[in-house]
Amino acid sequence: MVTLDKQAKDEISRAIARAEARTSGEIRVHLKRRCGADTLSQAIKDFEKLGMHRTKDHSGVLIFIALESHAFAILGDRGIHEKVGAAFWDETRDIMRDHFRNGRLKEGILAGVESAGRKLQAFFPRQASDRDELSNTVTED
Ligand code: CA
Ligand code: CA
Repeated sequence: MVTLDKQAKDEISRAIARAEARTSGEIRVHLKRRCGADTLSQAIKDFEKLGMHRTKDHSGVLIFIALESHAFAILGDRGIHEKVGAAFWDETRDIMRDHFRNGRLKEGILAGVESAGRKLQAFFPRQASDRDELSNTVTED
């Protein structure tokens, strides 16, 4: 089965911490075995299950990946969505997809986290009062 070992997950956690040093957005990576045809609906469910809707400025961003379904989604909370819309993530999505198509799972996630952080920085710069509202640990279920 395709998955990531602990070392790869730790590497992604560190990339999230680096990205969050530049933006008030809270990025999280969640891995799932499979999802149904509607990837986005599943991502929304898991977004809530992970408590990601509870950040102060609704600045949570979920990178959701269903490994065996070969599907993924990038989902921003309403504070982000209101400002930038769904097309904001197209570039990040394309970067990730290119890696995934070539079998580079970890690299795709790392590039996605990096891209999301870079894009968020422009609209949601890190605030002086910023703290780590959501764990940077990669979750899996
Ligand atoms: Ca933060
Ligand atoms: Ca965080």
